[in-house]
Amino acid sequence: MDLSYILNELGEERENYFNAVSPPIIQTSNFTFKTVAGFRQALSEEFDAALYSRGNNPTLNILRKKLAALDGAEEALVFSSGVAAISVPILTLLKQGDHIISVENPYSWTVKLFKNLLPKFGIETTFVDGADTNNIKNAIRPETRLIYLESPNTFSYELQDLQAIAEIARENNILTMIDNSYCGPLFQQPIKLGIDLVAQSATKYIGGHSDVVAGVLTGSRELIKRIFDDEFMNIGPALSPHSAWLLIRGLRTLPLRMQRSFETAKTLTEWLAKHPKVDKVIWPFRPDFKQAALAKKQMLGCGGMFSFTLKEPSVEKIEAFCNKLQHILMAVSWGGHESLIIPSIAGVPLADYDTGNARHQLIRMYVGLEESAYLVADLEQALT
Ligand SMILES: *Cc1c(COP(=O)(O)O)cnc(C)c1O
Repeated sequence: MDLSYILNELGEERENYFNAVSPPIIQTSNFTFKTVAGFRQALSEEFDAALYSRGNNPTLNILRKKLAALDGAEEALVFSSGVAAISVPILTLLKQGDHIISVENPYSWTVKLFKNLLPKFGIETTFVDGADTNNIKNAIRPETRLIYLESPNTFSYELQDLQAIAEIARENNILTMIDNSYCGPLFQQPIKLGIDLVAQSATKYIGGHSDVVAGVLTGSRELIKRIFDDEFMNIGPALSPHSAWLLIRGLRTLPLRMQRSFETAKTLTEWLAKHPKVDKVIWPFRPDFKQAALAKKQMLGCGGMFSFTLKEPSVEKIEAFCNKLQHILMAVSWGGHESLIIPSIAGVPLADYDTGNARHQLIRMYVGLEESAYLVADLEQALT
């Protein structure tokens, strides 16, 4: 399907709403029925019916159609956060006694899901370095039900070979799921590489303006319907119609914003790599990235987020640099119009900071939509 068609037309039935170009926000909790037969039908098959907005809502359904098509998936579900798009499918598809193999260092709340929440239900997780597919293969047990990937992650950017892992999983009858937030649907298409479920924080690139929290999950109709019918309806992580509308608006410009963020990240990483105060720059599309070949093989483009370290990685130097930035904002999240910085040390208790720990030294930068010269000037004055 043509990208322009997906973003501008798919799912939009304009004749049903006065031929308005922009779809309405159907701000309703419930939908009426003229006959008991119609009501009965909707109650028996809520996945396909407009009955109640905890399940379906027409504004959300426009968004779902576009997101499914972008991923090359049969269906999409949208959630009130990216984290819900990760936790709800896992709570649906796994049961007591099941085992998960996860890559090391996924998103922080995903780690908490695996370490704190799932053990309460008797689900155990083994973390492995996913850069070597054999580590995943060797961790498989008879009760392994899910291989959980995040490629790249959003701090140190390790990749996994999605196609190779999907093949191993299929041979062993194990589900695969990926957090694809970093690349999004335009820069990486895991379903086409054989991955079963693709989760994404729509708060990031899809929303794109730092004004909405949302998540998306795509996969086969069979899996998505099962998740909807069971835990999705029970846990209740529905997105509001207004937030869905904001995401539809975000999608209109997604290709432009991603391309811009990607290109500016390339400029900034090249500039930083040559700076005398900078030690390492980690970004999957840099030629010296340790998995550069795999990145080029399975990613169609690169997200605009990278990390770097200073030659003098003391707490004082890192803090002084970050505190001096004037335009690049210090904040969590990413994917919006504004460039952001997070020093790893902000999340490490000062007493635990270890200068020798490569992860502690990392400064993560997300590149927004500003002019690159404006960002370079801010980095330069803060580094000197
Ligand atoms: C932000 C983020 C999430 C969580 O998404 P929310 O929308 O904040 O719930 C998950 N994974 C990654 C990689 C993220 O960056």
